[in-house]
Amino acid sequence: MAAQETGTSPAPLRALAEAGLLALLVTAGVALASASFGLTGSRVATIFCVNLCAVIAFQVFSGNSGIVSFGHTAFMGAGAYMSAWLTMPGSMLRVTLPNLPGWLGGYELPLAASLGVVAVAGGALAIVSGLAVGRLSGASASIATLGFLIIIYSVLAAARDFTRGNQAFYGIPRVTDVVVATAAACLFILVARLYRESRAGLMLRAVRDNETAAAASGIDPVRMRRIAWVLSGALAAVAGALYGHMLGAFTPKDFYFDLAFSLVAMMIVGGMGTVTGAVGGVGLVMALQEGLQRLETGFVLGPVTLPSMFGLPVVGVSVAILLVLLLRPAGLFGRRELGLPGGLFGRRPARPAPPMPAPAAQPLRLSGVTKAFAGLVALNDVSADIPPGRITGLIGPNGAGKSTLVNSITGLSPVTGGNVALGTRRLHLGPPHAVARAGVARTFQNIRLFERLTTEENVIAAAVAAGLSLSDARAVAARELARIGLTPLADQPAGALPYGARRRLEIARALATGPAFLLLDEPAAGMNPEETADLAARLRGLPGERGVGIVLIDHDLGFVLSLCDRVIVLNRGEVIADAAPSAVQTDPAVLEAYLGTRASRAPIPATAEAIPDPAGKERTHAPS
Ligand code: ADP
Ligand code: MG
Repeated sequence: MAAQETGTSPAPLRALAEAGLLALLVTAGVALASASFGLTGSRVATIFCVNLCAVIAFQVFSGNSGIVSFGHTAFMGAGAYMSAWLTMPGSMLRVTLPNLPGWLGGYELPLAASLGVVAVAGGALAIVSGLAVGRLSGASASIATLGFLIIIYSVLAAARDFTRGNQAFYGIPRVTDVVVATAAACLFILVARLYRESRAGLMLRAVRDNETAAAASGIDPVRMRRIAWVLSGALAAVAGALYGHMLGAFTPKDFYFDLAFSLVAMMIVGGMGTVTGAVGGVGLVMALQEGLQRLETGFVLGPVTLPSMFGLPVVGVSVAILLVLLLRPAGLFGRRELGLPGGLFGRRPARPAPPMPAPAAQPLRLSGVTKAFAGLVALNDVSADIPPGRITGLIGPNGAGKSTLVNSITGLSPVTGGNVALGTRRLHLGPPHAVARAGVARTFQNIRLFERLTTEENVIAAAVAAGLSLSDARAVAARELARIGLTPLADQPAGALPYGARRRLEIARALATGPAFLLLDEPAAGMNPEETADLAARLRGLPGERGVGIVLIDHDLGFVLSLCDRVIVLNRGEVIADAAPSAVQTDPAVLEAYLGTRASRAPIPATAEAIPDPAGKERTHAPS
């Protein structure tokens, strides 16, 4: 029995219970090992738990951001040295590090107090390094973490007065015993699981799945990455301190590539998406390393005698990473958290969604919006007043600049000229998450969902980005999913939704931000006639119900004209008509634009002759 990758609601309660279960399993494993194998058993169990703490520290950042970090061993090294200074007696410290500034150490702090200080210092180091790392994503972020590791290693190795440089720093109290390590591992499991289901954790997982869509939903990707980096940096520093107090003596090399490789291997083999993956990965990789170490010196298997093979454990672990990446990229336990049966928690009782603040009834004013891509003017001096509480159509042949206009307004593709205002308030066109928070939501022509989150979580992520608590956001999500007809699919991962549902989920997610304006870029593209009619019915009531102004782009002119009381026509980046549908259909410039491009550009789904008579369609608004 396992919960969805992200667990169903009520998430924090469930996360707590499931973290408890995982912690219980780890504790039981430790107890069993200690009871069955005596000192060796408890020694291995201690190493397991310390490794687990370290891998969880990595996972908090990497699993939720999708960025593999090597830099966390740097926090570990810093934490190990710091805790050594704090816990060693002054007399001992004066012998090993005679030049260490007196205020830095020799306090003989108890372990718990020292770990507290180390956590704060690790967090502080992460705040500074996070200024840079948080700005990056993907491979460049991974490389930045590597750079961070190299810098900290070099500092530790060079600062001889503080660390003894490459000579062993010894005499550190060996206070990380099996009880301490197990307690720490249980605490780490709890913290990691609760963070994962928290508002910040959910928003970061949205960023991981699709940074552009997350920003368009009001989530600040840089801020979310920084929060995770700081939390995981603090955890890694504590894990490093525990490691140091287990070893009793170490050099900066003990916190360099070998350790980073080994911990990243554990995280990837287990699956970095989940805390369960950390537990499984540490167990499997340690078993593999242990087994291969025994074979390293050569062995006899029946008639075959194998010579010693130096480096076998490292090669074996590398092969394991390769196999996992090839055969099960999410890791062996990375898809789902070890879960409790959903029935234990039930669905949350229906509770009313908090009222969204009604958007101010102000127009969206475009003045002279211009966008040039090197050499190509995609938008040329576009001006229009888009009214609140109504649906305005935006049509034009392929390449006319419709999507570029949406990208420019929402800050995704900054304008090269002109400006946009909500009423009298100038919208600073970017960064995208700020435009979303200011009240302009959108959908994408090429659907962008948070694929690994559930349908419901996709919407919750947008609602928490607007400032709601998790429970209020859950209520809003329930309302928006019902509004758009997706309630039965709420617990499905978004990546598994059928096409039409994917388009509708984007709309529900955009509505959850409580927007003043909603820009829909071809929401009916690829839908069959029944789906399109259903969508039209759902959109028609929205402006009256929510006061939201909608800009509707679509190639299906029947669909657009039946819903709008005003249509703006773009061609080659310029507004060529801005009028009621009936006037637009007979406008010579519009006919020319459509007819002129019909032969050369496919696909033009509707030609001018095919523009239906809006008088024959259901309409809610009379042409103005
Ligand atoms: P529409 O949505 O109306 O079909 P687009 O806004 O996608 O049109 O494109 C308008 C024009 O801008 C096209 O000529 C397109 O090739 C160009 N364009 C769009 N995005 C970019 C970009 N990132 N770089 C260069 N040119 C672009
Ligand atoms: Mg487009």
